[in-house]
Amino acid sequence: MGPVKRSGADQGGERNVEARRALVSHGLLLVERGYVVGADGNLSVRLGETVLCTPSRVPYRDLTPEAMVEVRKPPASSPAVDSDSLKDADFPANATSELALHLAVYSARPELRALVHAHPVWACVLAVLRQPLPALLDEVGPVLGGPVAVAPYAPSGSAMLGENAARAMHDRNAVILANHGTLSGGATLEEAFYRLEVLERAAHVYLLARGRGEVAMPGA
Ligand SMILES: [Zn+2]
Repeated sequence: MGPVKRSGADQGGERNVEARRALVSHGLLLVERGYVVGADGNLSVRLGETVLCTPSRVPYRDLTPEAMVEVRKPPASSPAVDSDSLKDADFPANATSELALHLAVYSARPELRALVHAHPVWACVLAVLRQPLPALLDEVGPVLGGPVAVAPYAPSGSAMLGENAARAMHDRNAVILANHGTLSGGATLEEAFYRLEVLERAAHVYLLARGRGEVAMPGA
């Protein structure tokens, strides 16, 4: 007897349940690692035309898979998410306040299936200095795609923040948000989270090293 074939609907349902669980576990990791405090930051996963994201203002320790919010992505033919299309769209009121940020980056980067937004201390130092992270460690190039830019400032939750982030991120796997935090993406939530870890660690090394002399780049 061959393996039991599952219908596409079943597989889609399983992916949805797995994604909800992964959002809970990675949300807890954000707090454990000190990348956020309270209910700051947010995470999302893209499944087909649907984006699953963390709800607004719920502490990570209280999150459950059922609490994740499903948002239907605007059609690819629509212009990049702007304030008007967001206003018109019927998005759930309890979705993360940074939904526009997530949707703008998904719209610009079809290959990214998961995004993590955090406020890690060392990357936030670069965010307030408005200084990009150079590819100072060997892993920065392969993991993050090269130096990580700082997106111009826009208020938290604004559509402009999403537009600025998508543009500054370009083809990299992460971006620093001026005076705010970071956004990293990946094919999976695990990958997006790992990229956040590499970004924060490299920012830490960079800022410690810079106070002690000139930083040499790989191959120098
Ligand atoms: Zn934030």
